[in-house]
Amino acid sequence: MGENIPAAPEDPRERTERLLALDRAHLWHPFTQMQGWIEPAEGDEPVIIDHARGAWLFDTLGRKYLDGVSSLWVNVHGHRKAEIDSAIRLQLQKVAHTTLLGLASPPSIELAAELVRRAPHFEGQPQLNKVFFSDSGSTAVEVALKIAFQHWRQRGKPRKARFVALGQAYHGDTVGSVSVGGMDLFHQIFQPLLFDVLRVPTPYVYRWPTGPRHCLESAALAAEAVISGRRDEIAAVVLEPLMQGAAGMIAHPPGYLRRIAKACRDNGVLLICDEVATGFGRTGSLFASEQEEVVPDILCLAKGLSGGYLPLAATVTTDAIYESFLGPFESKKTFFHGHSYTGNPLACAAALASLRLFDEEGTLAHVRQMAERLAAGLKPLAKLKQVGDVRQRGLMIGIELVKDRATKEPYGYGDRMGHRVSLAARKRELMLRALGDVVVVMPPLSIAPAEVDLLLEALHASVKEATEG
Ligand SMILES: *Cc1c(COP(=O)(O)O)cnc(C)c1O
Repeated sequence: MGENIPAAPEDPRERTERLLALDRAHLWHPFTQMQGWIEPAEGDEPVIIDHARGAWLFDTLGRKYLDGVSSLWVNVHGHRKAEIDSAIRLQLQKVAHTTLLGLASPPSIELAAELVRRAPHFEGQPQLNKVFFSDSGSTAVEVALKIAFQHWRQRGKPRKARFVALGQAYHGDTVGSVSVGGMDLFHQIFQPLLFDVLRVPTPYVYRWPTGPRHCLESAALAAEAVISGRRDEIAAVVLEPLMQGAAGMIAHPPGYLRRIAKACRDNGVLLICDEVATGFGRTGSLFASEQEEVVPDILCLAKGLSGGYLPLAATVTTDAIYESFLGPFESKKTFFHGHSYTGNPLACAAALASLRLFDEEGTLAHVRQMAERLAAGLKPLAKLKQVGDVRQRGLMIGIELVKDRATKEPYGYGDRMGHRVSLAARKRELMLRALGDVVVVMPPLSIAPAEVDLLLEALHASVKEATEG
């Protein structure tokens, strides 16, 4: 009998101390200087998130925070969304996981069909029709690169083996996706491990060397020259459409994606759109490429795909690409790639529920309304002395802080200005994570108007406190 009496709940402070000690002892956090983590500066003590609801996170000490970056850009309809919770529970009553290697499963079949139905679709362009599942943004890109490479080999064009990527690209952290990445801070050290990539300039309007007005034309011309000049060597161009996330929320000039897509089509080069960050409503349309009426040959999806619930990714391609992998068994044209948890049924069930919510709740219309509200509220912030540039596409926002507005001189790496804003925001119940000097704002798509207002107020005060002292 005795063992059924529940133990007295642990005191929150004691529990937090116990967990923090274990965390310091055993956990290695991603993209984190662990020395600063285990010996934190005042105000930078680790926070342990215990639970969440809607747009709010709650820590083990009972403090709450608005989830200003959607738990690293993944959350869509808020935390503990009843419809997604119950879809997972329902699937759990059947099975948690079975393999897609040689077997099929209902949730992955239904989700593949649903993704194809909702993928960008425009008259006269190739149609995305085949879905290859994996489990992270990095693997979605890795799969896209390998598919593009193998596709040309099996089409008798083995010379078409190189990739074109943007200067400051970020496509994930596995070695293939790091190869197409171009962020020196993250990628430089791995250079000897990487394959060689053709670089074209990032269309970074704010910092375009000859001035913002020239960015679109010069960047597009430079890319077109590479694509047409080396078409026989190029397998594919890979880029993030409309907005480069991890590079610092770099918004492309309108028209850029369409120019690149046309150059690819005209030159027999595949276009891979990495919509890992921009996909699933983030920029105001279900997929960012739609806004320039572009259908890529390969579309990479992850982050918001499962509503931010479970690791799931998809690489979506055209029939033409898929068909170059068909042949008799002995032809060895098989795509020899797959992960243990590919197409996990729980994750697929969550994704299906998330997609249904887009229809039932009019999520895209809501995103556009909240994006307008944010845009209006960001105007006073843009006037602050240390704010160089405010970039927004839907609910994907970057605020670039600069030491000197006139010269656009950046802060030093050690100043950690973006991080200082995040710490100031934390005191105001707003959880952020910056990218260098770029403050990132990416709330769940379901954020309510009153929460947008709270976010704006906390953000403004935090930027002021960090930059003006
Ligand atoms: C986050 C991200 C990735 C990597 O996704 P992971 O799930 O972290 O591996 C790739 N591409 C883009 C555009 C991303 O934002």
